[in-house]
Amino acid sequence: MYIFFWAISLFFQACQGADQSSEASGVPLSTATPATSTAAMPAPDAGSDYLLGKFDPATHPDFVKVGKPYTDRTGMTLRKESFEAFKKMWAAAQKDKIVLKIISSTRSFGQQKNIWEAKWERFAKDAPLPKDRALKILEFSSMPGSSRHHWGSDIDLNDLNNPAFESGGKYQKVYAWLNEHAHEYGFCQPYTAGRPNGYHEEKWHWSYTPLSKPLLDEYQKNITESDIKGFKGAELAAEIGIIQHYVGGINQQCK
Ligand SMILES: [Zn+2]
Repeated sequence: MYIFFWAISLFFQACQGADQSSEASGVPLSTATPATSTAAMPAPDAGSDYLLGKFDPATHPDFVKVGKPYTDRTGMTLRKESFEAFKKMWAAAQKDKIVLKIISSTRSFGQQKNIWEAKWERFAKDAPLPKDRALKILEFSSMPGSSRHHWGSDIDLNDLNNPAFESGGKYQKVYAWLNEHAHEYGFCQPYTAGRPNGYHEEKWHWSYTPLSKPLLDEYQKNITESDIKGFKGAELAAEIGIIQHYVGGINQQCK
């Protein structure tokens, strides 16, 4: 009986989060994927400019280029640690006949500003009031300076539409595979369904948590909404509660 409860408690411990993923996958710790892929890392040397995406990943020493076969696009970069973990996950997926393609990775403040301001123009007619318009954009897009894509830890995979990953969708098997295995490589889906706050569900967006967890902590310690500025509608950041509701409004398992 004691053994039974011990086994059950181990099981529940294993389900608590990505850091426990080697147990969750049934692999003994001693032969698990190297610790670099799933273990929590010390907080990277990230000042405010880094956290806000105000640097050039193409020249940052901790970033690497991401090319074929991992993406078909050009100009992609990731933090080295994220890319090393992704390559392991990609290879494991390929063995299971699952093709993972990165369609977006690190984005600078300037790139996010282009995305945001294009939507700001596009939604002007449907949402003439600035706050309504910002909330409409925030269904799927971040204010510049508040995107996890700034950090080099986050990727979008295969398609930017949830139905593609759902029953009958082109990537249904991809999503099922990610749900089962991504945690073994340190990846977590931050924007799941049913959260009380933040962006809508995004089945394509995955975070490398050994990096993104300490960066989220740093962000919440060091950045305030007065740092989120320099684009149309930025003055709404505090009123909307961008940091609490959007930066912080993620799947608890990714924290
Ligand atoms: Zn994304």
